[in-house]
Amino acid sequence: MRNSASSTHRGASRSERKERSAVKARHTGATTHSSVRRIVLKLSGELFSGRGRAPFSLEKTEELAQELARGSRIVEMGIVLGGGNIWRGRHDARGVFDSTLSDYMGMVATFVNALALKGALKQQGVRAHIIAPFFIPGVVHPLCRPTVRPSERRKGMRRLLSRKEVLLFSAGTGKPGVTTDSVTVSRALEIGAEAVLKGTKVDGVYSRDPKRFSNARRYPFLSYAQYIKKRFGVMDVRAIREAQEGGIPVFVFRWKKRSLEAVLHGRGVFTRIGD
Ligand code: UDP
Repeated sequence: MRNSASSTHRGASRSERKERSAVKARHTGATTHSSVRRIVLKLSGELFSGRGRAPFSLEKTEELAQELARGSRIVEMGIVLGGGNIWRGRHDARGVFDSTLSDYMGMVATFVNALALKGALKQQGVRAHIIAPFFIPGVVHPLCRPTVRPSERRKGMRRLLSRKEVLLFSAGTGKPGVTTDSVTVSRALEIGAEAVLKGTKVDGVYSRDPKRFSNARRYPFLSYAQYIKKRFGVMDVRAIREAQEGGIPVFVFRWKKRSLEAVLHGRGVFTRIGD
């Protein structure tokens, strides 16, 4: 592939060649991941759940930690944790709780996942710290004390990352009414990450629901504008808008054994949402 590409490009200037290969990469879904040093990964709470209706499986948590430990040896990593395996605000369709209370239940659920993952990562020899909009002594890292200035907190987080320690972002924005997707991009911009990854149950963004339609097509690449226009559901549209503003690409891939590693090396199957 490299040979045929270079013969096609014979005679083109260096910048033209660079632009062409960037365009080609966009359309094949390939990426230059060697240049990505720091990422934020969004993991839905459902990745913690076991068989049947169990919200939480130790076995799944250990598997997650093994994959994440491998990833953390390749890039510096912040992880935004969902809590949907335990509770999502919108689960209360009957309106038993008021919606703010229900959303706080969802945010607290993300702490359960974060604590479990912190423990399982420790077992893998990886240090992890819980970062959240609320400070809970003994649970949340002291950088999140309200007395710490945002600039100091940012610097502190980057220092932890540079030591290959993992940040576990919990409780989303700390505000009711949104999901943890919304905060993923802002956390990525805050820590200076070069890419957002979303590990989910599908291997990318499809034209239609692949479970229901056999002719559903996976997009290797989507522009931010295409994603927003078609309002795909894999990642909050709000998050994609913020990614566009911040100029940060989003990669959607299926979470399975070794898939994180593959995406980090620019291999595997995924959809890249970007420019
Ligand atoms: N949540 C919230 N504000 C936030 C982030 C989360 O109110 O900034 C609540 C919301 O109710 C959400 C729940 O926490 O449904 C769990 O998060 P999410 O649904 O994103 O979890 P996931 O589906 O990714 O597991």
